[in-house]
Amino acid sequence: MTSTALMPLKYLQAYPQTLQDQVRQLIVQNRLGDYLEQRYPDRHEVQSDKALYAYALALKQEHLRNAPNIDKVLFDNRLDLTHRALGLHTTVSRVQGGKLKAKKEIRVASLFKEAAPQFLKMIVVHELAHFKESEHNKAFYKLCEHMQPGYHQLEFDLRVYLTWRDLQSADR
Ligand SMILES: [Zn+2]
Repeated sequence: MTSTALMPLKYLQAYPQTLQDQVRQLIVQNRLGDYLEQRYPDRHEVQSDKALYAYALALKQEHLRNAPNIDKVLFDNRLDLTHRALGLHTTVSRVQGGKLKAKKEIRVASLFKEAAPQFLKMIVVHELAHFKESEHNKAFYKLCEHMQPGYHQLEFDLRVYLTWRDLQSADR
């Protein structure tokens, strides 16, 4: 056992110490991978930008019919964790046919290609919800929870997954 017990969990800083300690304990006992594998054994098949666009559009049609149209959805391997951004939603204004058109875009970090389906859904739900609520406020999380029941737990577990991923690459 090294200094794992004291190591800062950068993705989990916003959570209570007791929760962070539970994750540290799983790391020390070498059980974090098992925890994730048991809860999230599946992988999804959304592997291209085209498939991701269709995926996001279907979710939007189901839950946010009145939100603005999405013009583009893509995986972006430049989005990384150092920027604390796993997803991005943007509105780009472009002149088109003499008119100013607002283009809505969602970018999803490429690491989600290999993640469990629940995590992909979580990040897309998050970015879609931002089209209605720009802040991370109560209404925002209510919307997320509506689109994906258990959203809060998933956001926590995604951060656990990211922690595990970092540990894997540090071992290499
Ligand atoms: Zn956000």
